[in-house]
Amino acid sequence: MNLKITCIPGDGIGPEIVTEAKKVLDKVCKVYSHNISYKDILMGGCSIDAYGVPLTDEAIADAKAADAVLMGSIGGNTSTSPWYKLEPSLRPEAGLLKLRKSLNLFANLRPAYLYPELKDACPLKEATSDKGFDMLIMRELTGGLYFGDRSTVLDNGEMVATDTLVYRESEIRRIAVRAFDVARKRRKSVISVDKANVLDSSRLWRKVVEEVAKDYPDVTLEHMLVDNCAMQLVKDPAQFDVVLTENMFGDILSDEASMITGSIGMLSSASLNDTSFGLYEPSHGSAPDIAGKNIANPIATVLSAAMMLRYSFNLDKEADSIESAVRQVLKEGYRTVDILPKGQESNFKLVSCSEMGDLLADRISA
Ligand code: NAD
Repeated sequence: MNLKITCIPGDGIGPEIVTEAKKVLDKVCKVYSHNISYKDILMGGCSIDAYGVPLTDEAIADAKAADAVLMGSIGGNTSTSPWYKLEPSLRPEAGLLKLRKSLNLFANLRPAYLYPELKDACPLKEATSDKGFDMLIMRELTGGLYFGDRSTVLDNGEMVATDTLVYRESEIRRIAVRAFDVARKRRKSVISVDKANVLDSSRLWRKVVEEVAKDYPDVTLEHMLVDNCAMQLVKDPAQFDVVLTENMFGDILSDEASMITGSIGMLSSASLNDTSFGLYEPSHGSAPDIAGKNIANPIATVLSAAMMLRYSFNLDKEADSIESAVRQVLKEGYRTVDILPKGQESNFKLVSCSEMGDLLADRISA
């Protein structure tokens, strides 16, 4: 297969972690006989420095021309970087928002998996972390409260602020279809999260999700209220496979889910539209505090590349080979500094960002 990838190394640790992800992808393509080509584009602070804007139209065209986009991270230190003295539409993050919009990326996927080797980093009770968990939060990304009309007006001598939460049937249907498709590649269970006891938008959400479920008789569907879901995530995270939810609930629940893994450098993500195209990036930021030191953990980006193979190219075996390489390297005791357990350093082998990339590439096999 030919894989045409546009890469956005970005700012801070971005270029370091994307280099390692490419190293692993190159090995996968060698082992499984695929042709991969990359084109790098600028986005974020580096684009501001080069062109005065966080994303150029040419860069958007390059992203659209690819089969998928693999990104590192963008942005700098928000207190000290001159990029944050610019007006909001010219700051680094505006580039990412513009790209998401141009590519119509409405589905955000964030897996939260507790590696047995890293379970000491999990802040939950030992009995819960011993059971482990492996879930994927599927968040609607372009509708709901964050995109509805809003206003702040003076009414009867006091300020009144209004935000509107709007969902169209078609918006709910397309994300639900995505969630059921993804569930078929996993443990075939969807828990749809809403607030249907209060909100009309949630009642419509529930109705449309149930309609979509009829086309997936092999996937089980349950509904859960969002307040209960927030509790269940810390009480019994093992019960979740695919969690399907609207924009704001997903924003909050996906952060909660990533927090209970305890390891920010391990968390991948994907944003998809209704074609096979996707944008794949780690869940963490550009970590300007450790940029250029070759100590960043590249695993979240490497796992994002695995998601790219799985969701944009349907290359499940190849994606599995990356995920098992990660497990293998952790089992062998290799750790970047962020996942090195405090007080037990001598039991592990501390490696740099590039050494971790070498180890992962080396462990890829058919
Ligand atoms: P951050 O995620 O960059 O860093 C938080 C902490 O985690 C830091 O101590 C950092 O060193 C550490 N860390 C993060 N990733 C790591 C990795 N792979 N390996 C080892 N340690 C890692 O969050 P922040 O400091 O709040 O934000 C820094 C910049 O990143 C800001 O400009 C922010 O806007 C931007 N940001 C970008 C994205 C994105 O590109 N999608 C997402 C979040 C934040």
